[in-house]
Amino acid sequence: MSDIEIPESHPRYLSLLTRHRIEEGVEKGITSKQGLIAEGRGEAFDYLLGEETTASADAAERAAAAQLLLAEHPVLSVNGNVAALVPGEMVELAEAVDADLEVNLFNRTEERMRAIADHLRDHGAEDVKGLTADGRIPNLDHERAKVDADGIGAADVVLVPLEDGDRAEALAAMGKVEIVVDLNPMSRSAQSAAIPIVDNIIRAVPNVTDHARDLTDATEEEREKIVREFDREAALREAEDAIRSGELD
Ligand code: ATP
Ligand code: MG
Repeated sequence: MSDIEIPESHPRYLSLLTRHRIEEGVEKGITSKQGLIAEGRGEAFDYLLGEETTASADAAERAAAAQLLLAEHPVLSVNGNVAALVPGEMVELAEAVDADLEVNLFNRTEERMRAIADHLRDHGAEDVKGLTADGRIPNLDHERAKVDADGIGAADVVLVPLEDGDRAEALAAMGKVEIVVDLNPMSRSAQSAAIPIVDNIIRAVPNVTDHARDLTDATEEEREKIVREFDREAALREAEDAIRSGELD
């Protein structure tokens, strides 16, 4: 995993490992300082969710896998936190569902774009989009609007983990089917998603990949049924109830 010296038996092992990876991401120029704050916010919600994938989140992850497999042009968006936490896992998911990977930053700088693309290539990515930036998301200011025309610009389904609320809303307004991973079910990002996954990205991404592998031989009808039967309102409500009541399933 990483070069950090934490015994795996430590009760908060995963949380400490996560923090260490984000810190390393900042040192490598992959993650922004804002990303540190986002991580802290996420951890608080994860603590309240028992640091486990709930049954409801697992259902969202299966629906996400089915939706990605049904897509004509799926794109997985990668920002500084995603690159620091799950670079290899994102590459594996992209392979499992035949999606493009696109670097997509809230605080876009060419250095960080390149550092993240290189980091993904170090983890096995072949083609990384995002650096061409010849497409725009309407109704966002110039820097925040940049995407690749043949990447997110042309995508029908996008996975946007830990996306900023404005951008998540703007992408949904473009008619993209949006899958969001966000531990805060009340965030605008989760609220604007067709499939909100309220789970830690560290657990969510490998689980979507497992579901995708499981659905490799499923028919189009079977995949469509899984997507149709997924209830986004119920998923958001169940996550918020678990956080507020402390009653976990
Ligand atoms: P809004 O979407 O309403 O604008 P926000 O401004 O709180 O909300 P950001 O700070 O842009 O959102 O993004 C951080 C979000 O990512 C938070 O909602 C946080 O819970 C979530 N988050 C942080 N780390 C993780 C993680 N490891 N896995 C999943 N979600 C995470
Ligand atoms: Mg948000």
